[in-house]
Amino acid sequence: MNICLNDKIFEMLSAIVTKDSIKAWIIGGYVRDHLLHRDHPEKDIDIVVVGNGIDFARKAAKAMGPGIKVSIFRNFGTAMFRYGDYDLEFVGARKESYNRESRKPVVTTGTLEDDQRRRDFTINALAVSLNRETFGELLDPFNGISDLNAKIIRTPLDPGITFSDDPLRMMRAIRFAVQLNFTIEETTFKSIASNAERIRIVSKERIIEELNKIIMCDNPSRGFILLEKSGLLKIIFPELDSLKGVEKKEGKAHKDNFIHSVRVLDNISSNTSNMWLRWAALLHDIAKPVTKKYDSESGWSFHGHEFLGGKMIPDIFRKLKLPLNEKMKYVKKLVDLHLRPIALSQEVVTDSAVRRLLFEAGDDIDDLMLLCEADITSRNEATRKKHLENFGLVRNKLREIEEKDAVRNFKPPVDGSEIIRTFMIKPGREVGIIKNAIRDAILDGIIPNEHEAARKLMIDKGQELGLTPQDESPEPNIQ
Ligand code: ATP
Ligand code: MG
Repeated sequence: MNICLNDKIFEMLSAIVTKDSIKAWIIGGYVRDHLLHRDHPEKDIDIVVVGNGIDFARKAAKAMGPGIKVSIFRNFGTAMFRYGDYDLEFVGARKESYNRESRKPVVTTGTLEDDQRRRDFTINALAVSLNRETFGELLDPFNGISDLNAKIIRTPLDPGITFSDDPLRMMRAIRFAVQLNFTIEETTFKSIASNAERIRIVSKERIIEELNKIIMCDNPSRGFILLEKSGLLKIIFPELDSLKGVEKKEGKAHKDNFIHSVRVLDNISSNTSNMWLRWAALLHDIAKPVTKKYDSESGWSFHGHEFLGGKMIPDIFRKLKLPLNEKMKYVKKLVDLHLRPIALSQEVVTDSAVRRLLFEAGDDIDDLMLLCEADITSRNEATRKKHLENFGLVRNKLREIEEKDAVRNFKPPVDGSEIIRTFMIKPGREVGIIKNAIRDAILDGIIPNEHEAARKLMIDKGQELGLTPQDESPEPNIQ
């Protein structure tokens, strides 16, 4: 079989290898995606060469244009450079052997076939020749093409050895299955299940990279269900794993919160490509197992699971090696607030309740509404419709209040420094009390969102605390 590589970059590479009689092939992801007609967002091309990959990269960079900077990774024996839209990565054909403790192999030079053998899946072991006389020829010793056509993920060698050697491949198998909508071949999948424990030798950083890729798929629930079935989930993400299961008491059962959570993730994924909003959807009910209670009268309850869930977020992010920055705070906030719009869907709602939610959610209010809508997983059409209509009403109320009061990015008209100046006090407890009183009064609609009213409240509140204004000027001093 011949592959039509019509981009001029392949012509250039071919001319270079032919001139110096180098044996080189395009291998791996590029070939796979090209055959699947998959438009790859990152155009990375892996090139394997019999001999020294770094030397070849240098030679190719020199021939392909002046000023190309080659990055060399001597530890890995690889080199790469950017050419136009492409990232070209070069490696010398190699054999690998592993020991139990590490996923870093001992590497020796080898043939193309040795190199194909060390690849994770048959569909990732396809190589296309760059040499002039065989240009475009496909080398497929493990029937990768037939697996590609049958949409199957399978290891080229014994899956037990493949996964035990480098357990990251188990995560990759699931990620590719979801990303490409392939099935994992039965023995391969069984082998993941029996090697699941080996995932412990893989760094958290590599695991989260794959989890994030799964989360960014169109149908991420499939990935989490495969992770659960294989036994990987309870090792890499026990909090999510413990959401699964249904308990029944006196004939009353609660829903399976794992299945619910991944369905919410699917729902939101059709409306957003914001990875952190997807994470919030996955984690919104994370505290359900620890808040679960049963009462004969009222049945199952999960009181406070939203606050406790919010509290769990930093720890989960730390354990998974997700960033501990404003992204984490965003996810925490959405988990915290995820029940609030439901409370606003009751018919009689005070403006102040709506204002408070707008104030707390700020610019994330639209994302919060998306999360709440995704949280409706009832299969009953009438119920779904009713909930969606209720959220429609909430959206209207939010819009109305926002137009009227603009509290979304609300900043109280009297700030801490004005309080300090007025009473000539040091920053401390009193400043906080006065600030909160002003904020609450505005959000509760007791005073208007204006400087004069806020300043008056500041003076009253200060006097209650035994403070005397030293500076009666209503205008802030500009220094
Ligand atoms: P994508 O770039 O979409 O993640 P890819 O197949 O290109 O897919 P890369 O991680 O870029 O994946 O790796 C390039 C190639 O290197 C793969 O196609 C595969 O042949 C090989 N490979 C990568 N990681 C492994 C691994 N852990 N074990 C064996 N082979 C691997
Ligand atoms: Mg790649």
